[in-house]
Amino acid sequence: MEKLVIKNIGMILSGKMEDPIFDGDCLIAIDGKIDAWGYEKDLDTDDPTSVVDAHGVTLAPGLIDSHVHPVVGDYTPRQQQLHWIDSTLNGGVTTMISAGEVHMPGRPKDVIGLKAMSIAAQRWYENFRPSGVKVHAGAPVIEHGMVEEDFAELANAGVKYLGEVGLGSVKDGKTANQMIEWARKYGIQSTIHTGGPSIPGSGLIDADMVIETGTDVIGHINGGHSALPDDQIICLCETCTKQAFEIVHNGNERAAVLTVNTARELGKLDQVILGTDGPAGSGVQPLGILRMIAMLSAFGNVPAEIAFCFGNGNTARQRDLNVGLIEKGLCADFVLMDQAQHAPGKTMLESVAQGNLPGVGMTIIDGVIRSERSRNTPPAQRLPERIL
Ligand SMILES: [Zn+2]
Repeated sequence: MEKLVIKNIGMILSGKMEDPIFDGDCLIAIDGKIDAWGYEKDLDTDDPTSVVDAHGVTLAPGLIDSHVHPVVGDYTPRQQQLHWIDSTLNGGVTTMISAGEVHMPGRPKDVIGLKAMSIAAQRWYENFRPSGVKVHAGAPVIEHGMVEEDFAELANAGVKYLGEVGLGSVKDGKTANQMIEWARKYGIQSTIHTGGPSIPGSGLIDADMVIETGTDVIGHINGGHSALPDDQIICLCETCTKQAFEIVHNGNERAAVLTVNTARELGKLDQVILGTDGPAGSGVQPLGILRMIAMLSAFGNVPAEIAFCFGNGNTARQRDLNVGLIEKGLCADFVLMDQAQHAPGKTMLESVAQGNLPGVGMTIIDGVIRSERSRNTPPAQRLPERIL
């Protein structure tokens, strides 16, 4: 039995918007799953196999990037970049969801070819986790000619997510809706490329098409990069009662703030989730999720402990993942962080609410330490330490 004890935690962020800060200074994980948390004096900390002394820093569920475009391993041909996933782990991200492996050179667009690539991509990231990061990949981009049996076959083979609707040849709401309904019937989630074209060859998707298509996630509601006009973003927030409002780093920041302000006024902040949309034309964003948490807290008038939920718990709930929340039985995936050195604010949360990044001191995936002091964030005031 593997027993991880994390003690001297300064604050536990739960990932749950309805109760974002848990009492306690200690957390125990057994065989990679969260077992108990609270005050050390009340918990069974005997016979650990690993011990982390948090030295007073904050523990939160590992961050989730709801929108990435991986290709293979820890390499992206989009910007000829190596180790972008490892770099993102250093930004506190422990889980990523593919919105399509669209940067694969020579990506097949015929139906049998796209199915083959999706299944292969799902397998190669399931079999190989770069630096331990969980990458849910194998997200096919729908093309004309797909029939219901194709979605059944993909689902049976382990495909769980569609790539962004609109990046393939299907550009009309009626056809897209038929295909995402087939996908949904077999348990495959869907997302859509909202806003103007991202690169030559992609097209505009406006609010009417988003609503007609009815995907589970409104992919980059703040554009990737070009956002829809304000009235259309507000219309999507008002109309959509369940779908995730996905805000990405690789989008329009003003539209991101508009989305959060609108969602807050409508009482729909639980629908807000975060992604980077990297790798992309704007590169890779190892600190993208942390940067959006700080930006949206600062400009969206959202307490930092709620903004953190956009980057873990909300995404986990919208995407039906077994991570992202402090809950017994869920994966022991964490980021440990503290206020950055010389950042203003009395606490880490106050400094984030003023738009500053925290310093990441450690990441843990399935109860195993995967990185220590971040090479990418500003240095933290205090660092957790492995003592066993
Ligand atoms: Zn897109």
